[in-house]
Amino acid sequence: MPADLPGVQSAILAWFEQHRRDLPWRHTRDPYAIVVSEIMLQQTQVDRVLPYWHAWMERWPTVHELASAPVADVIRAWKGLGYNRRAVNLQRAAQAVVDRGGEFPSTAEGLRELPGIGPYTAGAIACFAYEQDVAFIDTNMRRVLHRIFVGVDTPKPTVSDRQVLEIASEAIPPGAGWTWNQAIMEFGAIHCTARKPLCLICPVQHQCAAFPEIQSALAIAAKQPKGKAVPFEQTNRYFRGRIMDELRAHEGEGVVLADMGPAVKTAFEDADYPWLLELIEALAGDGLLVIELPAPRQTTPSSEVRGVAEEVGSYDATPIEMIRVRLP
Ligand code: SF4
Repeated sequence: MPADLPGVQSAILAWFEQHRRDLPWRHTRDPYAIVVSEIMLQQTQVDRVLPYWHAWMERWPTVHELASAPVADVIRAWKGLGYNRRAVNLQRAAQAVVDRGGEFPSTAEGLRELPGIGPYTAGAIACFAYEQDVAFIDTNMRRVLHRIFVGVDTPKPTVSDRQVLEIASEAIPPGAGWTWNQAIMEFGAIHCTARKPLCLICPVQHQCAAFPEIQSALAIAAKQPKGKAVPFEQTNRYFRGRIMDELRAHEGEGVVLADMGPAVKTAFEDADYPWLLELIEALAGDGLLVIELPAPRQTTPSSEVRGVAEEVGSYDATPIEMIRVRLP
């Protein structure tokens, strides 16, 4: 901790006062509204979340309404936000809250017991809904705290997340956890960004342990040859999204794998069935779809399909192409 921790605190809080964005979840202390925002904001930009958050709160304004909604509706409403399992986790958390009488736990430890609520989200809810001086770190907060209090974080951090969390805890001005944590998040999102921190106009430049070396470290990192990135359209995340789109388009009756394969992947062939099943099983494990096994067929499957069936083991006796999947 720098000797001038109070100086850092007051500079960051003053910056926040001047630059904070007017976000709807900053106007409420309703834990449900805050959970919805926090889960939507995981891996998704604020601008993209805003219309979804408004639509969600209008459709399911309380935890009770979300808990009793058909899961297919919940998944459909999430379309476009990505990482669909977050929608299912959000509803499971709502159902757990309703099961315990409709009241959210008010401590980070209690919140951790809700399904799908990790340490970051639990801390954020305890702080942003109940105004507790609780420390937690997301990517932006980790970067800002590391730079100011530890030093350059490029090419990689020099202390563990646990140590950054300890720093986060010590840095909270007593009684001002809500404002401080919002300020650090916002500072990381729009001022001390990953690649282009605005050091020259930074209010904590003189106290920052990473300044001025951070700028040359980032310049060196920018010159490093990048590994060849896999195009998004070739990632399993992309195909998971395609599968969910296909299920939404055939809500009710579902889709057999023989139709699903070619619908989600160009030039789909029998050898792709194990891969497709792996994706399907992962989505089923996340509660995003259900798998219906047809009765084993009487006729002998083609050698090609039988070969695939043997490869995937648990579906040995089932004509793979006739396995049906649908929204829960
Ligand atoms: S001086 Fe630069 S690295 Fe340090 S907090 Fe400010 S913007 Fe971030």
